[in-house]
Amino acid sequence: MNPVVMTLLLAAAWGLFAWQIFRRWRLMTIGPGENRFDQIGTRLRRTWEYAFAQKRMRRYWWAGIAHQLIFTGFVVLLLRTLVLWGRGYSEGFNLWVLGLDQPLGKVYSFLKDLFAVLVIAGTLVFFYYRLVLKPARLSKGFEGILILLIISTMMVADIVYDGASIVRDARAQGGAVAFHGVEPAGSVAAFALGGLSDGAINFLRHAGFWTHSALVLIFLNLLPVSKHFHVVTGIPNVFFQNLSPRGRLPNVPDIEGKLEREETLGLKRIEQLSWKAVLDLYTCTECGRCTDQCPANSTGKLLSPKQLTLDLRDYLYKHEKALVGAKGTNGQGAEGAAEGGMAAVSGNGELPELVPDIIKPEVLWACTTCGACETECPVFITYVDKIVDMRRNLVMEKSEFPAELQNAFRGMETNSNPWSFPASDRAAWTEGLDVPRMAEKPDADVLFWVGCSASFDDRARRIARAMAQLLTAAGVNYAILGEEECCTGDPARRAGNEFLFQMMAQTNAEILNNYKPRTIVASCPHCFNTLANEYPDFGARFRVVHHTEFLAQLVAEGKLKPKNRIDAKVAYHDSCYLGRYNEIYEPPRDTLRAIPGLTVLEPTATRDRGMCCGAGGAQMFKEEEHAREGAKGERVNEKRTDQLLETMPDMVASSCPFCQRMLIDGLAGRGREDVKQFDVAELLWQAVGEA
Ligand code: SF4
Ligand code: SF4
Repeated sequence: MNPVVMTLLLAAAWGLFAWQIFRRWRLMTIGPGENRFDQIGTRLRRTWEYAFAQKRMRRYWWAGIAHQLIFTGFVVLLLRTLVLWGRGYSEGFNLWVLGLDQPLGKVYSFLKDLFAVLVIAGTLVFFYYRLVLKPARLSKGFEGILILLIISTMMVADIVYDGASIVRDARAQGGAVAFHGVEPAGSVAAFALGGLSDGAINFLRHAGFWTHSALVLIFLNLLPVSKHFHVVTGIPNVFFQNLSPRGRLPNVPDIEGKLEREETLGLKRIEQLSWKAVLDLYTCTECGRCTDQCPANSTGKLLSPKQLTLDLRDYLYKHEKALVGAKGTNGQGAEGAAEGGMAAVSGNGELPELVPDIIKPEVLWACTTCGACETECPVFITYVDKIVDMRRNLVMEKSEFPAELQNAFRGMETNSNPWSFPASDRAAWTEGLDVPRMAEKPDADVLFWVGCSASFDDRARRIARAMAQLLTAAGVNYAILGEEECCTGDPARRAGNEFLFQMMAQTNAEILNNYKPRTIVASCPHCFNTLANEYPDFGARFRVVHHTEFLAQLVAEGKLKPKNRIDAKVAYHDSCYLGRYNEIYEPPRDTLRAIPGLTVLEPTATRDRGMCCGAGGAQMFKEEEHAREGAKGERVNEKRTDQLLETMPDMVASSCPFCQRMLIDGLAGRGREDVKQFDVAELLWQAVGEA
């Protein structure tokens, strides 16, 4: 069409894009390194499933389908764009296999037209979302609309170019415009344009061509400065996703040494973010799905995972010069920037600490670590690790944390339980039952890990008693640690007191390694998760199962026979650390269904969309954060209770002593003490034991 214009356009656009990418790349390299090049096969499979097939996107059905159409259309039209750029130099240019005289070219031409139309359909869905539905989860502003306008105009321009070309060719051959099956959209456009003069056709051909070619390049350069940077970073972010068990928080190595050397503990400054964490920030699509599912946000707290990501991202961009400059001047690379050079920049007062200047402490302390945000994010951005890491800095370096947590920390330290009950009372729940200790029976097949709640809390002790009786009834060769058991340290770790957590983990690991149990059965999902997913980092590698899995197996094997009827409808609540983190959904339901007369009800928010009870992330040991300005504040447990009550149950069941406490309080808060709360083990014992 015009080689000079095309050359200038391509050189300017690609040059600018390369410069922008270089800047983003430089920012990614200021922090510490992180190895995300393991398990390549799994990474490739998950990239196919979640980046190309966009499995998670469809959790929001219409938006997911529309996005899939636009994404696939972009992939298909990539070659078309190359062809058009080539035609800037030579009118008849085509990639050889894509010529219309080639079989593959015919197929491609048809697909290209089809997807041009489907992409327009996809943009219409998003226009409807943004202009009519306006869901609160989407970011406000014109950027989203502008991008939709650019995408739809590119597609229309392409179809107009094809249509005008068909008319021109038909006239050159002295024939009438005919329908070309391999160019359906272009043919329809040709019929529509058929009545125009040669001059108008020529103008539209050029306008379509240059509009498409130039808009692609404008779009390209908008990417790095907009939320649409995910077009570039989304696939890599999915590829480099965290593949370690979901319930495992990153370890802090050599914590005692760090304390002695007075090194920074936890996430304090932006330059401590690894390249992968920065890639997370670049990749946020601002879809708001994370915030939409966040129990803290939906009950009016200040926390919004999306906003947290955006605040960190904007801060990073804002201080690009200082961050990159410091790295350049000290010449120490990533580690140096974190430990030396950046401290100098920060020391000058140029870069404030993340908390409280960029992220308010109330935001961090509102998180229940439920993982709903991470389950929802279509591009696998993580938040819990960042939130806990910022808590670590507040707790271990600054001693700044909600006052109530001090009691829990002290209790774990001195009495090995967060409530400070005397450690000697840990096995008091066994009174009247014949429950063996590991010290007396070191060759027991099963170690029943009771946990602090079921050891000390009056109500939760009934879970421990039910479990002990069920294990005895099934003839399981089991024992408990009794007074030797300590809190796993889960609340300390999630609250940011990594030092305390590691102390408890090391103590427990030593005890466990002394007995080397073949199987550990834990009745608390928090204990279960920590023992199964985090203790291997401390040398304690054992087979750990949750009590609902173990009970379901005993029922399936006929070792437990539920015979007593419980004629009731029970709404089942999934614990986050059992369900979302460890994907244990069926065993508790199977056990409940095995009880004669019992009907299991599912709330609308269930399984991996189940709402948190509000106890996780050490919330159990502190007051809930205040509601943000203008929001209707609500307790998380009461909102969850409402969801369960919507099913009109006679009773509510769960598989976690923390959930049990929160739901009992929730039912009381709603004046519904008539609806009783039970653990799955309690209900099974009612059905199995002597009636
Ligand atoms: S983990 Fe749960 S509470 Fe925390 S930000 Fe994510 S959704 Fe919200
Ligand atoms: S963090 Fe993920 S889920 Fe949240 S807005 Fe960004 S892309 Fe969407």
